Amino acid sequence: MPDYNNDDIDMITQKVLKRRPILILGGTSEAYQLAEILHDKQINCVTSLAGRTSSPRLPMGKWRIGGFGGVSGLMTYLLTAKINLIIDATHPFARQITDNARQAARITKIPLIRLERPLWKQQKGDIWTNTKNIDEALTIIPKDKNILLALGRKQLARFANRKEAIFFARMINYPDNQDAFKNIEFIISPPTDCASEKELFLSKNIDCIVCRNSGGSVSYGKIEAARELCIPVIMIERTAVSNIMTVHSVDDILNYLAAAEG
Ligand code: NAP
Repeated sequence: MPDYNNDDIDMITQKVLKRRPILILGGTSEAYQLAEILHDKQINCVTSLAGRTSSPRLPMGKWRIGGFGGVSGLMTYLLTAKINLIIDATHPFARQITDNARQAARITKIPLIRLERPLWKQQKGDIWTNTKNIDEALTIIPKDKNILLALGRKQLARFANRKEAIFFARMINYPDNQDAFKNIEFIISPPTDCASEKELFLSKNIDCIVCRNSGGSVSYGKIEAARELCIPVIMIERTAVSNIMTVHSVDDILNYLAAAEG
């Protein structure tokens, strides 16, 4: 007879479970920050990146790159890698991977928690027109004006060949199909602080900005710059994610993990 009882077995099971890896669905500044903290705390975790950019910034600790292959591919990954917890820290507008994570978590019964940045709130001086989606935004673009598109690749596609205004798109990398966007001047740079954004907007005589309510601090410089220069913003709203436990900061995740450990 082994010299441990059922309580010991429970405890051992818990300990074994805790050594199993956490999967961070990443690609955001919060996901990089979380990976670094968990790595420092020697918590077993792996960050997954979609692999959209040719030389992505790599997170601390373990990582993998590339799509899983839909819900079934993600489930296979979760079970093969013996994932203990999924933290969906993807961009608030990356909805497909969030939906896949929700389905895969439900079927495999692996806990899922979402880390989603709080929305930006309109402040005094902000000239925003809120729209539900890109199609609605397209209907209110001021004609023949200089428009800065601060959007993702997918949304940009809707502006290909449009001639009603002069378009600029700020991107981290050129899109693969750059030839499809002859009507758009690309500005290849990450989002910057308010002062640099103001310089950019003035140098291109920007009259209006189209962006999404991504939230967070990394790309807030453009919102502050628009406020200071009285440039109108067409703000694409976020739709709420349902049926996933959601927190709004890295600290919230750390508190959740601490509570789960205790
Ligand atoms: P999406 O539309 O939600 O996802 C499309 C597909 O890309 C998913 O079905 C999945 O492929 C794969 N994928 C997405 N995120 C992944 C991840 N972290 N790890 C592995 N595979 C992933 O996403 P998206 O809008 O193209 O964004 C892609 C990634 O870029 C996200 O991880 C996001 O955090 C990051 N990002 C996006 C934006 C944005 O504007 N959308 C901005 C900044 C960063 P399979 O079905 O094959 O698994």
